[in-house]
Amino acid sequence: MNQIDLENRHAIVTGGARGIGFAIAQRLLSSGASVSLWDRDAAALKEAQATLGSPEKTHTAVVDVTKADSVESAVQASAGAFGKLDILVNNAGIAGANAKTWETDPAEWQRVVDINLTGPFLCCRAVIPHLLKNGYGRIVNIASIAGKEGNPNAAHYSASKAGVMALTKSLGKELATSNIAVNCVTPAVIVTDILQQLAQSHIDYMLSKIPMGRFGRTDEAAALVAWLCSEDCSFTTGAVFDLSGGRATY
Ligand code: NDP
Repeated sequence: MNQIDLENRHAIVTGGARGIGFAIAQRLLSSGASVSLWDRDAAALKEAQATLGSPEKTHTAVVDVTKADSVESAVQASAGAFGKLDILVNNAGIAGANAKTWETDPAEWQRVVDINLTGPFLCCRAVIPHLLKNGYGRIVNIASIAGKEGNPNAAHYSASKAGVMALTKSLGKELATSNIAVNCVTPAVIVTDILQQLAQSHIDYMLSKIPMGRFGRTDEAAALVAWLCSEDCSFTTGAVFDLSGGRATY
């Protein structure tokens, strides 16, 4: 594993109790950062913190990223726990139920967009004033290959992730002279609990599109995200980084 230096950096990872977010938290921690895990299930957070095994360098907050007041109080608690904020990883997300676009329940569309797109907006909105105060920051948004390509039977998810890419590009430009880099990654299928939300035929479709012929791993996502969270990522902002085993070559 390459060594990345995140000493004296404090990071927030949303959806950090499991899956990709947990692997990111683990990698940031092993790179020297302290980490606030945000998630909506207190028991899952407690278990994740215990598994990470560094209580002095971790903090947890029960948050619903779709609620501005919940996000705001978690930001205050996270900044209070470690004195400052340097890194935000917007990872919390859901897949939503698979359906043809015209058969998608508007409430399900709204639920997916609220969590996957409005959530990162609200978290950026609350955290950026702290980064500006610091004069330093790194934001990484977890988008998806679906946002680049548009997966059939997942228009809500694909559209929300395309929105995350556009949010990344706009913010990157707004903060370009502030020493705050904003980038996103676009994974193809990575084995986590999120797959339980999907039809097997949809998982098979996504796997069939990956030239490497395998699923991605959470540690592979965490490795790229850790670099994007580091000072070494200094001349790149508003960019989209591929993590799709060759599915997207653009
Ligand atoms: P998981 O379902 O394993 O983890 C997501 C976490 O986010 C869960 O703990 C979940 O909590 C939490 N979460 C969901 N909604 C909220 C909310 N409103 N507020 C706070 N936390 C919330 O998913 P992954 O680790 O697989 O996915 C992480 C990110 O990566 C997502 O944005 C996903 O879209 C993206 N991604 C995943 C891919 C994959 O194949 N795994 C591929 C491409 C992108 P709860 O259990 O309560 O829902």
